[in-house]
Amino acid sequence: MDHFLYKDGVLHAEDVALTEIAAAVGTPFYVYSTATLERHFRVFDEALDGMDHLVCYAMKANSNIAVLKILGDLGAGMDVVSGGEYMRAKAAGVSGDKIVFSGVGKTREEMTLALTGGIRQFNVESEPELAVLNEVALSLGKVAPITVRVNPDVDAKTHAKIATGKSENKFGIPIAKAREVYAVAGAMKGIDVVGIDVHIGSQLTDLEPYRLAYQKVAELTAELRSDGHNIRRLDLGGGLGIPYARSNEAPPLPMDYGKVVRETVGDLGCEIEIEPGRLVAGNAGLLVSSVIYNKAGEGRDFMIVDAAMNDLIRPAMYEAHHDIVPVIEAAVGTEAAPFDIVGPVCESGDTFAKQRDMTPVADGEMIAFRSAGAYGAVMSSEYNTRPMIPEVLVKGDQFAVIRKRPTFDEMIKRDTVPEWQ
Ligand SMILES: *Cc1c(COP(=O)(O)O)cnc(C)c1O
Repeated sequence: MDHFLYKDGVLHAEDVALTEIAAAVGTPFYVYSTATLERHFRVFDEALDGMDHLVCYAMKANSNIAVLKILGDLGAGMDVVSGGEYMRAKAAGVSGDKIVFSGVGKTREEMTLALTGGIRQFNVESEPELAVLNEVALSLGKVAPITVRVNPDVDAKTHAKIATGKSENKFGIPIAKAREVYAVAGAMKGIDVVGIDVHIGSQLTDLEPYRLAYQKVAELTAELRSDGHNIRRLDLGGGLGIPYARSNEAPPLPMDYGKVVRETVGDLGCEIEIEPGRLVAGNAGLLVSSVIYNKAGEGRDFMIVDAAMNDLIRPAMYEAHHDIVPVIEAAVGTEAAPFDIVGPVCESGDTFAKQRDMTPVADGEMIAFRSAGAYGAVMSSEYNTRPMIPEVLVKGDQFAVIRKRPTFDEMIKRDTVPEWQ
């Protein structure tokens, strides 16, 4: 459920008409709903009710600090994958003891940043990383709390580019090798082994891969304990999918996911961490865009819009589907027709939808891409020297720009011409 509904024929974000935001900031723009973000965080928090747990929002999904603050204020921890994200989490007021550091290529600088500023744990993904972390911690006179990310070799049955839990993926340590690596970690003076980490992929629409992975984690917990490790925390990753096409998708509910967690690892006496990103932010955001031209092609009608692949890359990168709706509801009885909805960028890949059935939208009128709150703005670029589009946050009847559109001047001034040129 989200808070983007038509009122008097106009699509609203909570109580604000998108037409009002467009008049203030121009199109295209991203708009996020506070109530939806809060609701999605609470749904996860409640799904783990009764278990000692922390929901660590995977902030790579949407890392605007206003978004982080909403979640942080509700008690969320953060899962970060870079030094920059760590600094953003801090800037949003999240304390280090609630920040988990994931990622396969943490640098010494990033480790130092987190060890100095405070960190809940590092999720270590390789033996070389473990050795470097030990070294960095010792050099700072600190002990780094860690889990080892294990790769359980289960098929997440999701898009190849976002599956991470098969042995052919670059992530984690093969679970069969885990005891060996934990033995090495346990002997390091700069390392404190606190638990196990697993994350098998993103946009999962089936709970079975989770069940398989978590069963393996439960077995490993027993083995590691018998090896003498004090396993007290399990980080179970994120990845629960969202319905991108409302007409035909119904991914599992967080409540049912919580049940799988309870059934597989609930009685191990471990603190549970989960790292949802997409499910928290995805359906809490829209991308709003204006139609520049309707262009009749040969046997095909194109809707050329002012948003492009640089603003929302998911369709080009993952062949992702986003529901696309008109901001002004079509009159009752208006017939839908197939359109190719495309951006202005000079690449054929700059196509949001092919032969999508839509009611016609006139030049100058607006459309909205649903489910654009996660992996939208964060993956945008200035390709074609298109300014990064504004992000707007709505709460009830209020809205505010939480990242403004840069001017052309600001963009161009970031380049410098060498003095010898
Ligand atoms: C991307 C990622 C997540 C979040 O995945 P979602 O599909 O957005 O829930 C969580 N943990 C790790 C380690 C990740 O890389």
